[in-house]
Amino acid sequence: MTTITHAIAQERRLVTEIPGPRSQALQARKTAAVSNGVGVTLPIYVVRAGGGVLIDADGNSLIDMGSGIAVTTVGNANPDVVAAVQSQVADFTHTCFMVTPYAGYVEVCEALNRLTPGDHEKRSALFNSGAEAVENAVKIARAFTKRAAVVVMEHGYHGRTNLTMGMTAKNMPYKQSFGPFAPEIYRVPASYPYRDRGLKGPEMAEIATTRIEREIGADNVAAIIIEPIQGEGGFIVPDPGYFAAMADFARAHGIVFVADEIQSGFCRTGDWFASEYEGVVPDLITTAKGIADGMPLAAVTGRAEMMDAVHAGGLGGTYGGNPVACAAALAAIDWMERNDAPALAREIESIMIPRLREMALQFPAIGDVRGRGAMIAIELVKPGTIEPDAALAATLNRYCHQHGVVTLTTGTHGNIFRFLPPLTIPRPLLEEALGVLEQAFESAAS
Ligand SMILES: *Cc1c(COP(=O)(O)O)cnc(C)c1O
Repeated sequence: MTTITHAIAQERRLVTEIPGPRSQALQARKTAAVSNGVGVTLPIYVVRAGGGVLIDADGNSLIDMGSGIAVTTVGNANPDVVAAVQSQVADFTHTCFMVTPYAGYVEVCEALNRLTPGDHEKRSALFNSGAEAVENAVKIARAFTKRAAVVVMEHGYHGRTNLTMGMTAKNMPYKQSFGPFAPEIYRVPASYPYRDRGLKGPEMAEIATTRIEREIGADNVAAIIIEPIQGEGGFIVPDPGYFAAMADFARAHGIVFVADEIQSGFCRTGDWFASEYEGVVPDLITTAKGIADGMPLAAVTGRAEMMDAVHAGGLGGTYGGNPVACAAALAAIDWMERNDAPALAREIESIMIPRLREMALQFPAIGDVRGRGAMIAIELVKPGTIEPDAALAATLNRYCHQHGVVTLTTGTHGNIFRFLPPLTIPRPLLEEALGVLEQAFESAAS
């Protein structure tokens, strides 16, 4: 494996309580200045980050098991990305690609067309956020098919704009009091092996597609939009065959099959894109998060005839494909190719899964251990049942935070403990974070 050198000491080091006095003072200012609607998981105020650590305003060094929600895959402030951004920002910061274009935008599209699954002719378009990419995938699918209906999954997450809120499954905190939502969005069962009572992937797909035929009519459907591994829904890996069967159904009925790879893409799951695992070639792919090491960038990539079905001027936006974000993406993608990033993710999986399975034998609250690559989760339940235990997830999360590990929970029931370490995390630090989790379980049991 490549040896990665780090500018910041790679250690867990706590010099104050968490959050420390400086962070607490900043949090008080946050409360006074920032809308209450913008929540914070762990109010340590970050001043530097890199490799596998975050340094806060009080000088604490915490292990990063979240990557800013699957964004800093190549390491926070990756030196190659920093150099590319510095160089670009000194040349020019913005022209608006739709007014006077620049090469970086075209190069990111070329890279996306080359790296996404399938060797058919492709086109891409760039945007600012994941939600914006999903909205544009729907626009493209509707323009291509001349149909209106959009099919999404139970537990699906696609963003917080009006259209994508309607496409997202979970009410709190994403949708509560924000409706009405856009019409022509239909939700069908996803495959959730831990909770499907033994039903296999193809059977779950049969249930979903029967629902589409009976309740919507397949020939009214513009797009089926699926996350190959559901992110905010709970790191749900579908049972084998489900994802491919849904893609086959879409193809048979002239429906655009969209893989939302915003969280699972860019080497996160041990492949460049999670769709590849089952050999599925989506018609369109949405990407964001891991694409540019934190610079705001998102994309839709797909079949040329679909992407080109939109009239000139129909897609775009003032900032979409900003030159600085494009420079960051090109550097991040280059780093992933040079360092065989999918292999780094698989190595993280090979450390985490066995260790978590061992813990599951010891702690019966761990009902399920799942995920691929550096996208791993445990599902917490009342022992001996499959009843979600969100309170335990919150308790463990608090313990990890107080002991210097940045962890995240997720899931429709809030009972999933999820791990999204940067691929640059030193392996001893990863082991240490898992040790803290083990102590969290011991502390919760006592
Ligand atoms: C995060 C996410 C989005 C939304 O991306 P934003 O950049 O937050 O708008 C959409 N789909 C999936 C699968 C995501 O994980």
